[in-house]
Amino acid sequence: MYEGPLQDVIDEFSRLPGVGPKSAQRIAFHLLQADPRDVDRLASALNRLQQGVHFCRICNNISSEDVCRICADSSRDATTVCVVEESKDIQVIERTGEYKGRYHVLGGALDPLNGVGPKELNVTTLVQRIGGRVDDVPSADGTLPEPPVIGEVIIATDPNTEGEATASYLGRLLKDFPGLTVSRLASGIPMGGDLEFVDELTLSRAFEGRTPVR
Ligand SMILES: [Zn+2]
Repeated sequence: MYEGPLQDVIDEFSRLPGVGPKSAQRIAFHLLQADPRDVDRLASALNRLQQGVHFCRICNNISSEDVCRICADSSRDATTVCVVEESKDIQVIERTGEYKGRYHVLGGALDPLNGVGPKELNVTTLVQRIGGRVDDVPSADGTLPEPPVIGEVIIATDPNTEGEATASYLGRLLKDFPGLTVSRLASGIPMGGDLEFVDELTLSRAFEGRTPVR
């Protein structure tokens, strides 16, 4: 235990996800010796964090503007919407460079035991988007484009109990939209993995989602 502000900083960092007491101590000592301007920058970024972050009014992604970078990008396919649990999942999918559509952030997954039902998630706004009532980003000259007709919803919730329950719920909810395809990201055996070490649920999902060899 140290005294005063140093210990306060160690305690605060220790509370963060993924930071153990040793890392917290290392960061605190680093900051103690760092250039005061660097520490000021960190402190002011932390101060601005909660006031400066907004949620995109179309997809609920974290955004510094009213509409996020992805929804505002007219080169992206507005007819395909990938549904994710959290904004951070968008970063993961974007890193693959595979997906050129839009997103919808639910803000979590169904978890009735912990009081998370459909009302606690951004489900209504998803249904409204598919109905074509929300994607109304004005173009540069201020005119509203025709709402895009969403033809495909790709459900990319986490492959765990809550994520699976959320995917089935959304599948049932969206099945009656005319002309809409609802798909779920395939899940299976990790690349570089070994069948012997794959759990049964993963293996059965991999069988279900098998694809023809090309
Ligand atoms: Zn957006």
